[in-house]
Amino acid sequence: MKRRFLHLDFKGIVPRFDRLEEYLRYFRQCGFEGLVLEFDCRVLWRSWPCAAMPVYTPEEAARIVRLAESLGFETIPLMQIQGHLEWALGDDSCAGLRENGTLTLCPSAPGSEKQLLAWMDELRTIFPRSRYIHLGADEVARIGLCPACRARLERGETKFQLYSTHVKKFCAAAEKSGFRPLVWGDMLLAEPDPAEAAKTLPESTVIVDWKYWGKGPFGSTRKLRDSGREVWGASGLQCAWYEHFRQILPFYEDRLENILGWNEFDGTVIHTTWGRSGNKYAFYPPWLMSLPLFAAAGDPEKWERHPWRERIGELSRLLRRALEFELVKVPAKIRAWPASCRLEEESREYIALGVEYQIAANRLLEIVADHDAQLASSRFVGIDRETMLRDLVEAPRKLHRDVKELLPKLGAVFDRNGLVGKEEFLAEIGSQFRRLDTVKPLELP
Ligand SMILES: [Zn+2]
Repeated sequence: MKRRFLHLDFKGIVPRFDRLEEYLRYFRQCGFEGLVLEFDCRVLWRSWPCAAMPVYTPEEAARIVRLAESLGFETIPLMQIQGHLEWALGDDSCAGLRENGTLTLCPSAPGSEKQLLAWMDELRTIFPRSRYIHLGADEVARIGLCPACRARLERGETKFQLYSTHVKKFCAAAEKSGFRPLVWGDMLLAEPDPAEAAKTLPESTVIVDWKYWGKGPFGSTRKLRDSGREVWGASGLQCAWYEHFRQILPFYEDRLENILGWNEFDGTVIHTTWGRSGNKYAFYPPWLMSLPLFAAAGDPEKWERHPWRERIGELSRLLRRALEFELVKVPAKIRAWPASCRLEEESREYIALGVEYQIAANRLLEIVADHDAQLASSRFVGIDRETMLRDLVEAPRKLHRDVKELLPKLGAVFDRNGLVGKEEFLAEIGSQFRRLDTVKPLELP
């Protein structure tokens, strides 16, 4: 069966409880049939009292789930059982669960199973009607390091068996709680024979093949399907890597290629919306940045008629060219895009600010590079004082002024929309420009 689910990762910038409903209604209008909710560090879990950055109480989380279901969404909780528990394992109260002191969970630690089962029980009370649970289990970077795990390796278990034995245990626990388990596919794909690796998991397990770059169909999906297990796909609706540190807008065309490619898949797809690369990484920007992508992912036919479709394509090309004389005209045009609701109005304002940020970020790099190049040349050709004054003294001053105006406007987006994380986001964005302070006028001879 072909369905479109939306995954929301709450560890990033999220709306406060009273502002979430507007998004859920918008996502439903986009056409998504289900929500995969990864509350992560944002719920004050009873089972993890050390939760790092809570925004919602467990009661509010349950109300979010009820609201989503009343809007017609199927809901799926996402927990993690080994990797990506950095938000909890970073707290010293959880030190006993660490794999040899790292922020990966140790499957041999005496308290690990009890802790995860308590979390699953808590999720069951928050998601009483859900048919599936996603167990995560992706990107487990550290396996078999501690004395207890090393002893198991010495007794003949492989690293993959340390992993798969642990995953199987929670697939079984999920079934006992009335959930059908989902597991990410990357750890299976890292094995020489992914189909054989997938067969070690119970037959009811759904494997989710996440491929966030390029256009499917992907060979990895076929390999996982060879196991006979049900395989779903997963796009990267909101994800990034190096580019997000100097860019607060995505490369929309890359995201669209991936999303629209997955929408042609002959099975269920989860469109993933990440809040950070990991718990200890910088924020990705708010969902407002991705509103056009939600519209594209939820229903490709509606997207064909969406007034932003052509405009986003054009914007993406201009962002990639990064030519200032082209980009300066863009924000005013974006602010005139047609908007069908308040969220689209806020989205277009955020995107316009994103272009203004990009102009400043590009100019910063140019100034830093120009400074170094001129310094090198001046030793050979001397210095043109007036030109240097313009390029290396006046230009950084103007950029400082522009950034000073831009940051409060970005902050106002947070205030108007009830988003958490304003201080952190502005610190992250502002950090780019601190380098300007190191650009000093050349020593003129
Ligand atoms: Zn261990």
